[in-house]
Amino acid sequence: MKTSDILIIGGGIAGMSAAYFLAKRGRSVTVLEREDQPGYHSTGRSAALYSETYGPQIIRKMSTASREFFLNPPEGFTENPILTPRGVILTAAHGNEGAIDELLTEGRANGANVVPLTADDIKKLIPILNTDLIACGALETDAMDIDVHALHWGFIRHFKKLGGDLVVKADVTAIAKTTAGWQVTAGGETYEAQILVNASGAWADEIAKLADVTPLGITPKRRTAVMVDLPSDVNAHGWHMVSDVGEGLYFKEDAGRLLVSPSDATPTMPHDVQPEELDIAITIDRLMTATTLKVNRPGEAWAGLRSFFADGDPVSAFDPDADGFYWLAGQGGYGIQTAPAMGEYAASLICGDGVPDRMVKLGVTEDALAATRPGLVRTA
Ligand SMILES: Cc1cc2nc3c(=O)[nH]c(=O)nc-3n(C[C@H](O)[C@H](O)[C@H](O)COP(=O)(O)OP(=O)(O)OC[C@H]3O[C@@H](n4cnc5c(N)ncnc54)[C@H](O)[C@@H]3O)c2cc1C
Repeated sequence: MKTSDILIIGGGIAGMSAAYFLAKRGRSVTVLEREDQPGYHSTGRSAALYSETYGPQIIRKMSTASREFFLNPPEGFTENPILTPRGVILTAAHGNEGAIDELLTEGRANGANVVPLTADDIKKLIPILNTDLIACGALETDAMDIDVHALHWGFIRHFKKLGGDLVVKADVTAIAKTTAGWQVTAGGETYEAQILVNASGAWADEIAKLADVTPLGITPKRRTAVMVDLPSDVNAHGWHMVSDVGEGLYFKEDAGRLLVSPSDATPTMPHDVQPEELDIAITIDRLMTATTLKVNRPGEAWAGLRSFFADGDPVSAFDPDADGFYWLAGQGGYGIQTAPAMGEYAASLICGDGVPDRMVKLGVTEDALAATRPGLVRTA
């Protein structure tokens, strides 16, 4: 039996960022990860974008609260910068101009650097776009690419340096409440801790059920990404990412090719999700409609799960009915860009210190991330 102060289930970006901040606070922490690679699921399948105009309000605040860590991580955290400039152009189809006005107003209110663009401006920046389909747009100049692998492994390496234990191939199969806290069976071993953190991504409700805790109604949604080769006369180096505000398509340059997604969000079960042929075909069709590109053969494709609660916001809070059971789930499509703040926030709440001051100043409240908020669908 291995005993720690805190057990975390899930070694993705959510679990590892919280583990790192808890270890920094001197807590003994064990992370249990089912796979042999901790980034195997959602964390290793993202589009790796940091945008302060993306997602619901609490996400935007947590993204802004993460910026400082991204730009000035602790000494030796990563070898190269975590963020590199990208910029994102948001485009609106005719009839959807209001979405750009809203984005400009809200983005600026949040401190993001966003400027309006005409269809002609957009054509000059991304010449392959069929801009007759675009009414207007906006450029978020400070949107960045995230080196997800470096960030995730920065958390892992520094967590281990602080004495933390990450156990891979540790599939959690049983959870029992004890007088001392929680007893967890994983990979044939038994682990015990006073506090159990559920950072199992798409499996968050499954883990709750194993622990006899009422699920909060998480829905994993499949999203597809496809790599596309560019013709030799198209040089996409330095292009901003392009994303339709109506969430029908986005693409960004990646090592001289395009990473393209139809922004699909198909509800599914928690599993090792794979891309569907139909979604790949839709991706290519939308790309060929939006641009002058002719794609004969798509490149490699993958799919990942973006997991949401009913109201679209994540939960980072103790369960109201299960002593010492902490939810850290529902990061949706924003779990990488919010990870530093979400990890710090979770560690602070778990240690009984409430919302960190710098997040209070950004308007982050415990209510927004609570497991008791009315927007959740608790299913006994
Ligand atoms: C196509 C796509 C594009 C995206 N683009 C972006 C983006 O540009 N920016 C951004 O910020 N976010 C993006 N996201 C979202 C981001 O990837 C997720 O929000 C984030 O990775 C969630 O992290 P997690 O740690 O909660 O989940 P995961 O990485 O899935 O980690 C959960 C872990 O729990 C483990 N686990 C589950 N059950 C058990 C068990 N019984 N025992 C032990 N371990 C268990 C799993 O093996 C898994 O490793 C994107 C996602 C997708 C799919």
